[in-house]
Amino acid sequence: MSEFTVKFRGTRGSHPVAAGNKLKYGGNTACVEIRANGHTIILDAGTGIIEAGNDLVKSHIASGTNIENRNPIQALILFSHSHLDHIQGLPFFKPLYIKSSKLCIFGGKTHGKDYQQLLSDMVFGSVFPVELSEIAADTKFYDFKETDAIVLNPDSDIPQLIRFDKEKEIILDEKAVVITCMKCNAHPKAGVLVFKIRCNGKTLVYATDKEDYIGGDIQTVNFSRGASMLIHDAQYTMEDYISPVSPKQGFGHSTIEMAIETAKQANVSQLILFHMDPAYDDNLLEKLEEKARGIFQNAMFARENLEINLMQVKCKV
Ligand SMILES: [Zn+2]
Ligand SMILES: [Zn+2]
Repeated sequence: MSEFTVKFRGTRGSHPVAAGNKLKYGGNTACVEIRANGHTIILDAGTGIIEAGNDLVKSHIASGTNIENRNPIQALILFSHSHLDHIQGLPFFKPLYIKSSKLCIFGGKTHGKDYQQLLSDMVFGSVFPVELSEIAADTKFYDFKETDAIVLNPDSDIPQLIRFDKEKEIILDEKAVVITCMKCNAHPKAGVLVFKIRCNGKTLVYATDKEDYIGGDIQTVNFSRGASMLIHDAQYTMEDYISPVSPKQGFGHSTIEMAIETAKQANVSQLILFHMDPAYDDNLLEKLEEKARGIFQNAMFARENLEINLMQVKCKV
């Protein structure tokens, strides 16, 4: 069966929000869950990963009657970068504490530290009762770079990391899932990884926490050209971005207009505006969404628990 679905588990930028007038679009921080030909791929571990983990545990328990005969939880977790709103949910991700779970964690080297060390220092140890080294799951860590592709082959649980020169040169089983990344330095202080996931002839690009330029960002345009879906940072309105009282230029986030400009130039089929400012309530986001659709018809803000079947997104090219 050809499967490629996206579920938004956390949509909010910077910090979680709990106010009732902000929950239509979501209060949890960045986390996107993808199901691709039997593989589970989780992008970022903001607080949205907590519910994703709870659901994985529920399915695991329902899959058998005892520890021996239940299907193990298997997932890849990819980190775009190490800011708190992208890692803070990880210690509360319950599959970490189940011995049969098999987790593969990918992140880029940050400030010279590998990702395992970085998570160990930032969300375990002195800020959490458990050390990373004490978690029960079978967890493997990988350093992910622009020159590598993660390949998930059908009928194999082990991701393959391959080096490549040109993306077109990667020729694989047609049911394989291929993940590549692009390093973007337009986010303080250590930059961010933008991910591209290809599966069943469809392409998803996840470009959060990056500041575009007025008039578009050619690097991201080239990376996401013709994608079925582009999930793009759209934290600010242009008014807030250039506000004389509190300007946001240089904070490493895009305006809604910048995200649209990049989506247009890349000719993507669908644009999901993501990582919304925690100060923006549902009322404002509804208005901004309507305005965005007037410029780019297939644009919408991400909403927590929104699920989209990418196999049904009609590609423009
Ligand atoms: Zn963020
Ligand atoms: Zn960030």
